Amino acid sequence: MHMVLGAHVSVAGGLKNACNSAENTGSTAIQIFTKSQLRWQAKELDLNEINAFKKCTAAQKLIVLSHLSYLVNLGSSDEDIKEKSLNAFINEIKRCGILGIKYLIFHPGSNKNLTEAETINKIAKNLNIILRKTKDFKNVILVIETTAGQGNQIGYKLEHIAEIINLLDNPERFGVCIDTCHIFAAGYDIRTQVFYNNFMENFDKIIGFNKLCAFHLNDSLKPFGSKIDRHAPIGKGYIGLDAFKLILKDKRLDNIPLIIETPGGDKEHKADLDILKSLS
Ligand SMILES: [Zn+2]
Ligand SMILES: [Zn+2]
Repeated sequence: MHMVLGAHVSVAGGLKNACNSAENTGSTAIQIFTKSQLRWQAKELDLNEINAFKKCTAAQKLIVLSHLSYLVNLGSSDEDIKEKSLNAFINEIKRCGILGIKYLIFHPGSNKNLTEAETINKIAKNLNIILRKTKDFKNVILVIETTAGQGNQIGYKLEHIAEIINLLDNPERFGVCIDTCHIFAAGYDIRTQVFYNNFMENFDKIIGFNKLCAFHLNDSLKPFGSKIDRHAPIGKGYIGLDAFKLILKDKRLDNIPLIIETPGGDKEHKADLDILKSLS
């Protein structure tokens, strides 16, 4: 099995605890928040913590993804939020570089007072500022995640993401992450072979497979097209096991990290990952 499969794990008590969770859950890839996702400020990384994390992830051959704080909104018209968002984003790219983390996942952003086209322009403009200020960290790939479209979020259509990438000065520094719960809530069905193939062909046409860096495998607590982002355990939501089976059997995804962000801790995540492994 060449599947790169794992969980979003906690770093409570220190970054290197992510490696314990990787072991407990049977993950070959993990996603983490390198800092509290609910605060702007990040505690400085100390050298011991950096080295311990690099050592254990290398020993376990883990592919590591970081998820940017949910507070960051590159679409905001509020100057204070914009400044904080740019700083937090740049800071996180640097932290990823220092920690040897290859992928930084982020949501594009939202703005309730602008049109989608205007918000997309604003997001791309801010990303270009970030690119200019992080030229020394080009090995960190910035990964745009598909969204459910809740609350004016950009990214619930594949075209939004393609448009953002088209406006970037360094599109080669970007990738895309498909979240199954988000696309399903956004109105892309993947529950049958035909629907799944359609979605993947659309993705290739509109964005391109070469941009696909990661998958988030989450079932959905809310029905198809609800535009609500609520994750359910694998097989316990409206998406169901058939869709996950199609993904696990898709050879094109053999080396793409597949990460669950389902409810619970290591125990629940191991159960979800075991189900996914049984499907492949
Ligand atoms: Zn996700
Ligand atoms: Zn989500």
